[in-house]
This record gives sequence, C-alpha cells and structure tokens, in this order.
Amino acid sequence: MDVKYIDTHTHLNLSAFTADVDEVARQCADAGVAAINVGTKEASSLRAVELAAQYEHLYAIIGLHPIQTVPDNHDEDGEGMAEVFNPDFYRNLAQNKKVVGIGECGFDYFHTAPNSYAVQEEAFIAQIMLANELKLPLMIHTRGPKPGQTSPTGRSVYEDVYQTLKQYAKVPFNVHFYAGTIPEAEKFFALGGTISFTGVITFAKAFEEIVMHAPLTLIHGETDAPYVAPAPHRGKRCEPWMVQEVYKKIAAIKGLDEEEVRQQLLKNAKKQYGI
Ligand SMILES: [Zn+2]
Repeated sequence: MDVKYIDTHTHLNLSAFTADVDEVARQCADAGVAAINVGTKEASSLRAVELAAQYEHLYAIIGLHPIQTVPDNHDEDGEGMAEVFNPDFYRNLAQNKKVVGIGECGFDYFHTAPNSYAVQEEAFIAQIMLANELKLPLMIHTRGPKPGQTSPTGRSVYEDVYQTLKQYAKVPFNVHFYAGTIPEAEKFFALGGTISFTGVITFAKAFEEIVMHAPLTLIHGETDAPYVAPAPHRGKRCEPWMVQEVYKKIAAIKGLDEEEVRQQLLKNAKKQYGI
C-alpha cells in the first residue's frame, strides 16, 4: 500500500472497534492511511501488537495509561482495575518489530484522585526507563484537573510531565492531544520532543494559535479514535482514516499548501517512529 498519511495515535485496539476492526482497517488501507494503535494497559497493548501482525499498515505502541494505574478509572472495557507496570511483560512484547514506541504514559489529573500522583509517577518513570533501555520513543498523555480544581502538585500537568521527562528521558517523545500553552510547547521542543494534534483542531478555535506557532517539522497529526471525530464527521465514531481532515486543517491554519503539509507530516511520523 502507498502510505499517504500516518495517524500517529489511535485505538483500533479498544472495544469500540471489536465488531468491525477489519472493515475499518480496510478503509484505512483504501485511503492510504497507516495507523499506530496505542496501548493503555497489558490487554490493549497485546491487542495493538496482534493487529500490527495482521495488517501491514498498522503499528503498535505499548504501555500503561495513567488512568489505568488507579482502581477507579474510566475504562470503556468494563470495571476499572488498577495495573502495576510490569517491565518484563512490555520488554518481551517490544521484541515484535512493529512495536514503535512506549506509552501512553504520563499524568492524568482529570479522571483520578489527587492521592494517585505517586502511583502515576511510578508507572511513568518505569516506562521512561524501559523506553531508554529499548531506545524507543515515548508517547505522552497529559490531562489537567477538572475546571476549578488544582493539580496534586500545584503545577500544570505539562510542567509536571516536562520535569519528569527532563530528569529521566534519553529518547524522543511526543506529547499527544496537545492542549498546553506556546511556552510549554517550546520547552518540549527544546528537550527534543514533538506535539500532536487531533480532530479537535477542526472545530475548536482555541487551538489556532498553537498550531500556527508550532514548527511544521515538530508536529504530528492524529485522531485518538474512537474519540473526537473531526469536522465534517462530528458526532460519529472517530476512525483513523479521518486523520486526513487533521492534516488539512493544519495546512489551512498555517496557510500552507495541503500537499506540502501532507508530505512533511508523513516524514515527521516516519522519522519519529522509524516506519
Ligand atoms: Zn489515546
């Protein structure tokens, strides 16, 4: 297949796609869209690797999402069970050549209680260590507290992630679903990181400034499917082939040629994940 786009962060490995994953994978292939399915815990990481083995245009990132480190998580696959990051499990799974990164890991203050910071941090650092050892890039999750609430550290989730990466990470990283400020993004860039944008930029004006400001060589397009379908597909289940709309919107906001943007984002994703 001739790859024209790469959805750098998606979840065909989750239960929202159990019934028709083959159909969606075929639609992606027809549209020239390759996709990286990101694990959230052991089962979904394993599933991402299975899909990558089955389809040439699918890849896997494996790891433990911060909300999966706590018992009261919002797991779409049922009752939330806290998992402890087991390096041996992931080290073994990473032997598969289509595993292109570790994550998604980081901090989530939205879905978790403030007293879970220590357990989230422990899982995050353990994943950074494994990524360093395997020389694989990190996929970073960040979510700040609910409006009106403060973070457990009193700092922004971006600052907390930044400090942890600065202290431990020796590999490239991507801050996915970026919703931070321009100065925070600049700190990530200075540390060798990239940021990625989802379909939310197609309908939320708040993202225009950061999309405009971020260098084209340091960003990625993603869908985070099944969440946040881009315009004009809003209200439907998000699917990886819709990443084309994210690419187009980046071009529109930056006032650049769509084809130039497509080629550069494709190059960025291939470089970051060794595809
Ligand atoms: Zn995700």
